[in-house]
Amino acid sequence: MQYVNSLLDLIGNTPLVRLGRTLDLPAEADGPLVLAKVEYLNPGGSVKDRIASRMIEAAEASGELQPGGTIVEPTSGNTGVGLAMVAQQKGYKCVFVCPDKVSEDKRNVLKAYGAEVVVCPTAVAPEHPDSYYNVSDRLASQPGAWKPDQYSNPHNPRSHYETTGPEIWAQTDGRITHFVTGMGTGGTISGVGRYLKEQNPDIQVVGADPAGSVYSGGTGRPYLVEGVGEDFWPETYDRTVADRVIEVSDADSFAFTRRLAREEAMLVGGSAGMAAFAARALAHELAAEGRTDAVVVVLLPDSGRGYLTKVFNDEWLGQYGFATGEQADHRTVGEV
Ligand code: PMP
Repeated sequence: MQYVNSLLDLIGNTPLVRLGRTLDLPAEADGPLVLAKVEYLNPGGSVKDRIASRMIEAAEASGELQPGGTIVEPTSGNTGVGLAMVAQQKGYKCVFVCPDKVSEDKRNVLKAYGAEVVVCPTAVAPEHPDSYYNVSDRLASQPGAWKPDQYSNPHNPRSHYETTGPEIWAQTDGRITHFVTGMGTGGTISGVGRYLKEQNPDIQVVGADPAGSVYSGGTGRPYLVEGVGEDFWPETYDRTVADRVIEVSDADSFAFTRRLAREEAMLVGGSAGMAAFAARALAHELAAEGRTDAVVVVLLPDSGRGYLTKVFNDEWLGQYGFATGEQADHRTVGEV
């Protein structure tokens, strides 16, 4: 019989899949090779399963998280799903605090795993007792509560140093030359980048960043791609690791996200489209330099399922003036 005892045993060991037509390299080109690390194949649907399990294991080992304890984190995204999944399997309670602008769908995902969701009003000052910050601090200071804090927890980058990095090195037989990823907390780039450079200091670590974010020299001005880019420098980001940061506009990120679904059958989120667009630009540079032996690995953090009403919705894109790319037009019966 072939089975695992828990879904948690399936975290990590995600495959590398070669990108093809979306690279738009000349048909006769025999490189560079661009490989996508498909993180939506993790059991919770994103790369964040890795940090959730590692942060929880470390807190168990240090005694910060005791049996029957409660995990409190101000998040509504992928980290929440990872934490909810691991907490449930290990018998912990989970409380997520999120602002009221977070969609009901996202809240319902967390509740579906058995987590509690506390919604705070956006329209109050940070010092107000009902603010997102105050509510999460209050809940985290209750007896038995523990706050992972993915923006400062060293086990976030460490999980990538211990799993994602070694997987990529082994899967490419040590032939990787470039690693491309987006940056939110910076955990992925810091952990993977450090591991790879320790194996071979010539490996180039390339960040992909939404125009406006501090990582690419912006001031924190708003952008629409979710999960990446910051308006501050998180503790989990190692400023020495990236050799280069490629800035990508929302328009390019979204158009390329749609192309990945239509041409590579990869239904991924906007941050994956952003990173893959940067990897494509890099592949063109390498091709122009004759570096056909280059092996570029790009990390795709999550699935497009969570963005069907945004990136994959023509009206939503149109409302911001973005092109819908090569999306097939709807046909109504009668026109067919
Ligand atoms: N993409 C998505 C969709 C994410 O949720 C995150 C995590 N915030 C990232 C990319 C960036 O990963 P990291 O936090 O490791 O920098």
